[in-house]
Amino acid sequence: MQKPKTEAEIQAMRDGGKILAQLLEDLKQQVKPGVSEKELDAWVDREIKARGAIATYKTDEVNFPAAICISTNEQIVHSIPSDYILQEGDVVSFDLVITYKNMKTDSAFTMIVGDKPSGAKKHLINATEQSLYAGIDAIKGPVRIGDISAAIEKVLKDAKLGIVRELVGHGIGHEMHDGIEIPNYGKKGTMGLLTPGDTIAIEPMATLGGEKITVDADGWTINTWDGSLAAHFEHTVLITEDGAEILTRL
Ligand code: MG
Repeated sequence: MQKPKTEAEIQAMRDGGKILAQLLEDLKQQVKPGVSEKELDAWVDREIKARGAIATYKTDEVNFPAAICISTNEQIVHSIPSDYILQEGDVVSFDLVITYKNMKTDSAFTMIVGDKPSGAKKHLINATEQSLYAGIDAIKGPVRIGDISAAIEKVLKDAKLGIVRELVGHGIGHEMHDGIEIPNYGKKGTMGLLTPGDTIAIEPMATLGGEKITVDADGWTINTWDGSLAAHFEHTVLITEDGAEILTRL
């Protein structure tokens, strides 16, 4: 059960979600061959403040050493932006949480640097994004978490991608992670019931290879065990009486 939110708190998530969505949209324009991950992090850090929000990762709640996670190629999530300079064809995931009026929203996307198309990379990215929307579409009002999980799993399985099972979506709002878990695989009709007013982050992560992960010595960066490429998409979503409202979309 999620701590109830007032209408004003839900509105703060709506407004914060829009700030986050616009920021990520603008970030895409900054991503090009020759730019370093650290430069992009500095841009994001500046822009979060300029837009009246707080970089949640840098707060005591998380203590991550940067404003945004930038996970490149075989890195799946939680990677610390480094001096690495992005190259044409890199597969890069950006994951960002902001706090606005004390409420948190969380969103992520993956893109290919430059515009050299590659079949497998595009398939990975498109199918992972599609699985996120399948999970959201499974919400028709009050919903079992398993209904969302099963919808995500079906898309990823049909696409023959590896499903990252050890990392899950989560309840979000007053806190970045409030204890509710949204796995990217599962059975319809199982797990907890989400009801109108609940807010969750749905975040499928998938690979072009296996499902096993490793954690770097930095304690943050999570990689595919087999070195295969990974993708990650995420939205913060409000459960409504008859569906879902995506809060981190323009
Ligand atoms: Mg998240």
